[in-house]
Amino acid sequence: MASVDEVIYRSDTNEVKVNVESMSAKDYEEKYRENLYCAFTGCEAKMSYVYDSKLNRGYFRNWRHEQHSADCDYFTANVKSKSGSYKEGEVFGILTKKQKYASLDRAFDLLSMTEEEKNERRKEEKNQKKRKLSILVRSLIQK
Ligand SMILES: [Zn+2]
Repeated sequence: MASVDEVIYRSDTNEVKVNVESMSAKDYEEKYRENLYCAFTGCEAKMSYVYDSKLNRGYFRNWRHEQHSADCDYFTANVKSKSGSYKEGEVFGILTKKQKYASLDRAFDLLSMTEEEKNERRKEEKNQKKRKLSILVRSLIQK
């Protein structure tokens, strides 16, 4: 996913650009949360700020389930990050660049999730693994 360094902060009275460098987790929680939007003209996607303590830096990403408008620079990046699923026959394949980014996105997702959301995600993944395994078994039988 392309990194987003700048977003629009919208309050009742004004609208300012905010750079990721000037944001802190504390500021975000106290002031900016739920009021950040994609800076691309014509795109209204709601954004959130995430601080990655491992990389020691913050970045902006889509608010959960938010979509960028089709002509926004970040639109395709967003679609790519959602297609991290494997296709039949690729189970043992080497990770493509796209898939690597997808798993990176997944790690970022986990950082910004609540415990409840994490549990939901784990359940989903368990089911997906089962499905992948059955696809693999089927493709082996056919050979
Ligand atoms: Zn956008």
